[in-house]
Amino acid sequence: MSNLEVNQERFLASIEELSRIGSTSAQGVTRFALTEGDRQAREWLQARARAHNLASHFDAAGNLFIYAAGSSQEPPLIVGSHVDTVPNGGRYDGALGVLAGLESLIRLQETKTLLTRPVWLAVWTEEEGSRFRSGLIGSRASIGEVTAAELNDPDAAGITPADALRSWGLNPDDIQSVARRPGQVHAYVELHIEQGAKLDVADLQIGVVTGIVGIRRYDVSVKGQANHAGTTPMHLRHDALVAAALMVQTVEQAVITSGHSDAVGTVGKLQVFPGGVNVVPGQVDFSLEIRDIETAVMDELVAMLQTKLQQIAAQRGVELSWELAADVKPAPLAETVQQTIAAAASDLGYSWQRMPSGAGHDAQHLARICPTGMIFVPSKGGISHSPAEFTADADCVRGANVLLNTIVKLL
Ligand SMILES: [Zn+2]
Repeated sequence: MSNLEVNQERFLASIEELSRIGSTSAQGVTRFALTEGDRQAREWLQARARAHNLASHFDAAGNLFIYAAGSSQEPPLIVGSHVDTVPNGGRYDGALGVLAGLESLIRLQETKTLLTRPVWLAVWTEEEGSRFRSGLIGSRASIGEVTAAELNDPDAAGITPADALRSWGLNPDDIQSVARRPGQVHAYVELHIEQGAKLDVADLQIGVVTGIVGIRRYDVSVKGQANHAGTTPMHLRHDALVAAALMVQTVEQAVITSGHSDAVGTVGKLQVFPGGVNVVPGQVDFSLEIRDIETAVMDELVAMLQTKLQQIAAQRGVELSWELAADVKPAPLAETVQQTIAAAASDLGYSWQRMPSGAGHDAQHLARICPTGMIFVPSKGGISHSPAEFTADADCVRGANVLLNTIVKLL
């Protein structure tokens, strides 16, 4: 079978055009979910779809579907990603996968490829979680895992996801109706920028994603004793911040030396109480996040850190407490889809490697109900969620070509 290729000029122009919707004065893009910018972006996608005789439809979760239907009643093959962004984000995160999906649907039609099953493009709602507290809302709704409480959890302006969906003429009360069960989707494939530097550093063109890492988050609290900074001698202090500082260093060292090269551990947020220039810190609350592709590795790292941090607490005479704040299971991706993506990349003559995804993606939810795969393309310098996010035109095109040919192989 000969390879199909996307229309480069049209595809690259579409990246440029979409990036103008929600463009910021700081050269970035801001499109929060279910806001005006998101609406404009998705109406622009609908208009492009219409121009190529592709039907489209919003579901009750605000997910936009564009259809290359075929006549078959078989379960659909879905490709997708998102067009919402972080504040002042880049032009490729999410958008690339959506635009490559649309270009793929158009090319399938132009080349009169026989569709033995429907092929759909999904543009998922609120992937980033930049507006509403919980991200990945649309893809989670598609597997029936969005709760009523979450739909009524307001954004900073007091607007809930349910309100926002109603303002788009959608009915959030029907959100359970969009849930799909195992067997109802043939496969799901998502093209995305890597958002890390592995492909760029290795000078490789395509990443075949093996799975999406799990995330374990803890709220850690260190309690010492607040006291006068002038009158409390050094040897009589129970300084919570000094203890926390040692703990932060220990997290870094322990993960580096754990022997698990894909594992990462991060303290990203830290609050000091009472937070006075002349007060010995009495309490420090910090976040601790561990990510890995294997639950067993996360368990091992957490157990090790609990021991090491407890030792520091004992040595420093402070109290330590942990509370689990989030536990997202790793999502291994289907071996069959990985092989298909790898074959598509090889057929096109592109270099590739298998790799885990350190960031969360809509695909992790679809993986629960159908064989799922992800295609990565290089992010220059590993930068994303920033106006400096950059993927070269040739890499965007290669990614889209791999997506298109993966679709054909999976039909
Ligand atoms: Zn994304």
